[in-house]
Amino acid sequence: MTPQLRKTNPQDLAALGGGAMYDGRPISTSNLVRPDIERFLMYSRMFHDAHRYTNDGPVVKMLEQRLAEFHGTRFCIATANGFWALVLAIQALARPGRREVVMPSLTYRRLADIVAWCDLVPRFCEVDEATLAIDPIAAASCIGADTALLLGVHPIVNCCDVEGLERLSASTGVPLLLDAVESVYETVNGRKTGGFGRAECFSMHASKLVNGFEGGYITTDDPDLAHRLAKTRAFGFFGQDNVENLGINAKLNEIHAAMALAGLDDLEDQVVRNRARYRCWQRELHGLAGVRLLAFDESERCSFKTIVVELTDDWPLSRAETLALLNREQVLSRAYYSPPLHARPMRYEHVPAELPVTDRLANRFMLMPCGHLVTEADIVAVAELLRFIRRHAAAIREGLAA
Ligand SMILES: *Cc1c(COP(=O)(O)O)cnc(C)c1O
Repeated sequence: MTPQLRKTNPQDLAALGGGAMYDGRPISTSNLVRPDIERFLMYSRMFHDAHRYTNDGPVVKMLEQRLAEFHGTRFCIATANGFWALVLAIQALARPGRREVVMPSLTYRRLADIVAWCDLVPRFCEVDEATLAIDPIAAASCIGADTALLLGVHPIVNCCDVEGLERLSASTGVPLLLDAVESVYETVNGRKTGGFGRAECFSMHASKLVNGFEGGYITTDDPDLAHRLAKTRAFGFFGQDNVENLGINAKLNEIHAAMALAGLDDLEDQVVRNRARYRCWQRELHGLAGVRLLAFDESERCSFKTIVVELTDDWPLSRAETLALLNREQVLSRAYYSPPLHARPMRYEHVPAELPVTDRLANRFMLMPCGHLVTEADIVAVAELLRFIRRHAAAIREGLAA
């Protein structure tokens, strides 16, 4: 079905009583990349033939090796998901006897929960206005006697100032861990992600760049850390019935690894497809006042995975109104990391923070449809919808109020 904007009056909008633009097949912001079935089956046959399903099987080992090569790191430890990758790495790296984790607030919605699972306390810091990423200067002002860890997170578009964070870590002695889920493919000054800080954490959830249904991994160059992480991932066992420390079960299984390997085989092609979608968004949003597309820094390697726009002051509606209009059309755009973490209800200990830059930015950005299932025709149609909304903004406002 080729989507078309069959709307001439504001009343034709789904939010004002008309039919939805996408009936039955919503378009979303989730990557949902689908690698070649034959590649997936080929990798699956390996564990099937070997009668190995989990516990360091051949396909997980192959995946770990491929990922370590991809990131240029010595070690890769695969996990059941990104959440437990982060819990493992935070626990392993946090300085003993100290409790605070310095981290941004404008970030992944569950990141503070992860810190709480480690029995540590989030201390939220400001982001840089231009990059939306954790600001090393702001982070420095949050570091004190009780700081256990510096948790840098890459924003959705481009990377945070990892080199600035590395300098801060070196000058203060606070270990640096990176959540690099959004920057799997990226480089910073030509250096691949994966090798910054003490370790980096990634996710292979179906919505991410590499789809393992669910999954995650940690990269590091530190052999002791890698050993400890691998051990803690599997109940703390080292060898048979030899429990060295308190562990969890965060192992990745073979079939997830098979899917992820098929995704890695397709990765370069995926980036080509992502780039084509991004170029289409660039063309279609060009000249639309009030909607600013966040540009990928093409002097670095980038995945072009997720499309983020800012609604600037000359956009006639609020972001909440705009999202409501789009969502009713089954265009499932989403607010960018909103509300920020410090403004959410938290049932665990955290350091209260006042973050005016974060508060202001948190109301301006949204994710646009992207990923495997979104076609160029979809992008053309959604851009046209935005133009329609802009043209009829006054009447739409009245209609929404009524
Ligand atoms: C998705 C995500 C995670 C968590 O990964 P899961 O595999 O879903 O547990 C962590 N950090 C960021 C930035 C994410 O986007």
